[in-house]
Amino acid sequence: MIKGEKPGDDKVLGIRADMDALPIQEENQVSYRSRHKGVMHACGHDGHTAIALGTAYYLNQHRQDFSGGVKIIFQPAEEGPGGAKPMIEAGVLENPAVDAIIGLHLWNDLPIGSAAIKPGAFMAAISVFNCTILGQGGHAALPHQTIDSVVISAQVVNALQTIVSRNINPLDSAVISIGELHAGTKMNVIADTARIAGSIRYFNDDVIKLIEQRIEQVIDGICRAHGAKYTFECSKIYPPLVNDPEITALVTSKASQLIENPESILSEYQTLGSEDMSFFLQEVPGCYFFLGSANAAEKLNYPHHHPKFDFDETALAMGVEMFVGCAENFLG
Ligand code: MN
Repeated sequence: MIKGEKPGDDKVLGIRADMDALPIQEENQVSYRSRHKGVMHACGHDGHTAIALGTAYYLNQHRQDFSGGVKIIFQPAEEGPGGAKPMIEAGVLENPAVDAIIGLHLWNDLPIGSAAIKPGAFMAAISVFNCTILGQGGHAALPHQTIDSVVISAQVVNALQTIVSRNINPLDSAVISIGELHAGTKMNVIADTARIAGSIRYFNDDVIKLIEQRIEQVIDGICRAHGAKYTFECSKIYPPLVNDPEITALVTSKASQLIENPESILSEYQTLGSEDMSFFLQEVPGCYFFLGSANAAEKLNYPHHHPKFDFDETALAMGVEMFVGCAENFLG
């Protein structure tokens, strides 16, 4: 918490930076590569933390220039299981109460010198589902004595692809991705169970209600057809990320001082990616935005979560300038 010394409004701006790494072996050969085997900063959260520290350093040296205060929130576990909600429950937005909150993600889908700052729905909600197909195992040479969970799960995986393409209104956005499929122990044994797990992205509640219902109907129908049973559960993980129009306007106006070409500030950009910053934005008005960090000429343009992910460090200074500028404008 950095308290301004200038008399005036006693407003508090929250700045949120996530800090977690990912279980990926880093392939970059740089002096600052991860020292931990099998763990690296493949999403840029180390950059977010560096930007927040830079902002704290600057603001602390200029306390006489602003009123109110800035609460810098370093948040763990964004990549799962989620750190924002437990921090809110532990009171991070109280004592003193946070009036507005901002945060950013370095974004390698956009070049350095650009930003995506959009009011309203900016990032998607995520739900996850788990399904176990309960068949009947047996000898690979005697399939008639079994209920083959592998064959059933293959049909389920295929059929689930029709939900987004055939059941969702084409004007709504949704993604169903099956990230896990596990079955079997040996090539001459028919597996009695198969487990399917996936992630669902969407913007509104009607869409997830329909998807959840359709997934179970598809699993149920295919299992019935083959005489198998199943278990199914679906749970909401992060809500959609929705930016407040006023704070977003404040962030956009700061960005337009920093980024000369107005076409490099994208105000319609959306992604089906998800973020637990959305929990903070459900509690207080705020804005979460992307700062372009890719530099193709320097080969700093690998996608997020890639073993060679890295970003153009000019973005660090831009991030600090964005946060400091927004704090000055918000606090006066
Ligand atoms: Mn991330």
